[in-house]
Amino acid sequence: MWKVENSTNTQYLIKFESEIILPFFNMISDVVIEIEQGEIILPLEKTDIWKYTEHFRKASVDQKNLFTYIMQKTVSGEKLQDLFYSIVVTFDSSYVEQIYLLYKQQNKEILDGNYDIPQIQVDDIFKSIFVIYYYNTFFADDYVWMTLAGETYNRKEFHRNFKLENKMAVCPYCDVDTAVAGSNNNVEHFLPKSKYPLIAMNPLNLLSSCYACNKADEGKGDRIPEVPIVSPYNENIGDFAKFEVDFLSKKITLINSGRQEHHNYFKFLQLYSRYSDRMVFESVDHEANSLFETLTNSGSPTLKEIDLYIQRREKMNNLSLALRSIISNYPMYKTFK
Ligand SMILES: [Zn+2]
Repeated sequence: MWKVENSTNTQYLIKFESEIILPFFNMISDVVIEIEQGEIILPLEKTDIWKYTEHFRKASVDQKNLFTYIMQKTVSGEKLQDLFYSIVVTFDSSYVEQIYLLYKQQNKEILDGNYDIPQIQVDDIFKSIFVIYYYNTFFADDYVWMTLAGETYNRKEFHRNFKLENKMAVCPYCDVDTAVAGSNNNVEHFLPKSKYPLIAMNPLNLLSSCYACNKADEGKGDRIPEVPIVSPYNENIGDFAKFEVDFLSKKITLINSGRQEHHNYFKFLQLYSRYSDRMVFESVDHEANSLFETLTNSGSPTLKEIDLYIQRREKMNNLSLALRSIISNYPMYKTFK
């Protein structure tokens, strides 16, 4: 709902791309081309064939140490170099080139703010590299980040940077929940990593969300959104959310006042049904009543002051969008000028 930025985390993830993702592609490419040119004869005896690439030989000592570390780290019984090996003996240079171009293209689309990108199947080996090794493992690996950035970095740091930069304590997806507690912090992929593995490390595909938004039954899970769609990196989607309230049935209704891409966003996050929950009404109702109480205790506020009061609490307190929208329906509100 709230427009967000992610420039601090972007700086870290750009380093990850330039020092790990791109060199890894280059090393694969070096080997498959040498195999095709007959310079390397199959079957390969060495599982650490990557060490013999021109790319590795020319790397600095630090880069060599980093690559040796990530290639030989065992995750679920397998090393990254085993996957490297499988790739070079399985795929030809045109397939590797295709994956590389798809990687470049999909990541450029996301950085340009376009989330309407076709889902293209990539081989499971590449999926594992991006999801299991890069995202699940190296994202939170102290050695990797000490080498890349001179300091540790992990999901906790990601959340911290994200919230500080956006001056935000609520979940930017929904505004229903806060996302402060460590247990309610999910680094969330807007386009799911299971279906778009090549953008699993893209900073503008990652966002700090509440637990519910990340879950399949309450939020988006790993579904693919209907397109066209917008993300909180594109615009302040809350501007296109209107709310109606029915005091009799104690229910708030979210209404799209924007276009198709906003409707698809609300649907993707299941916000129509989440806002209609009785708990949401109770929470907004409670806030509205205590707001009137606070303000009338300190004189007779104007409508503008009430509005400013809600604006000042937004992004730090949840449900501000709904509160601001429905407060004018309260009979008390109509007595203010
Ligand atoms: Zn949320």
